[in-house]
Amino acid sequence: MDDIPEKFTDTDDILGNKYNKFLVLDYDGWYSKGNPTNKRHYYKCLCDCGNPKTVQRGHLISGRSKNCGCGRLETLSKVGRTHGLTNTRIYHIHFDIKRRCYSENNHAYEYYGGRGIKVCDEWTNKENGFINFYNWSMKNGYSDDLTVDRIDSNGDYEPENCRWVDRQVQAENTRQAVKVNAIDTETGEEFSFPTIASCKRFTGADPKTMKRSNNGQRTRGKWRFKINL
Ligand SMILES: [Zn+2]
Repeated sequence: MDDIPEKFTDTDDILGNKYNKFLVLDYDGWYSKGNPTNKRHYYKCLCDCGNPKTVQRGHLISGRSKNCGCGRLETLSKVGRTHGLTNTRIYHIHFDIKRRCYSENNHAYEYYGGRGIKVCDEWTNKENGFINFYNWSMKNGYSDDLTVDRIDSNGDYEPENCRWVDRQVQAENTRQAVKVNAIDTETGEEFSFPTIASCKRFTGADPKTMKRSNNGQRTRGKWRFKINL
């Protein structure tokens, strides 16, 4: 799994960002495409139309490059047929899944990678792992209010064992055993924990914060909590 970054480097700060039609998938390197003295940071991007393209960092951020060249055609493509932010949400979900399973520094690692749970090759493949995951999602009922759920919670992240479900389904599957639910407000994903302590290890939030959030008060950070006594 050498394609999973151990930690972020400075150039990774824009991964997962959306600039016009480009979603930033990966850092490609510091190099020149013409004059050898004129090096730039390049990124592998996915255009809303489904075409991959390597784009200069500066051109992404300034908006000088807005799309792969497809701009005038509002194409009926498989990728990007819904609104643009779908791409970033799925990208973050895909990235989080890989980190849970392969990055020992990740809060959730002990519940996933640490228990031997893996992500299938089709979805981790360096060249088109994200695109495969994206296409699988679109064919299997993805929408922005659903989260990815493993049917067998001891099984891997792979097409046969995953489905997109709403939070009610996820909550019903786990309600009885659960003490605390943590909701990632960035992706809408909900995680369930048997104890406050295990929830704290996963989210980094302290029990006071969980209680405040449970009582409907605003709390810092992306997590919201529901405590079931
Ligand atoms: Zn395009």
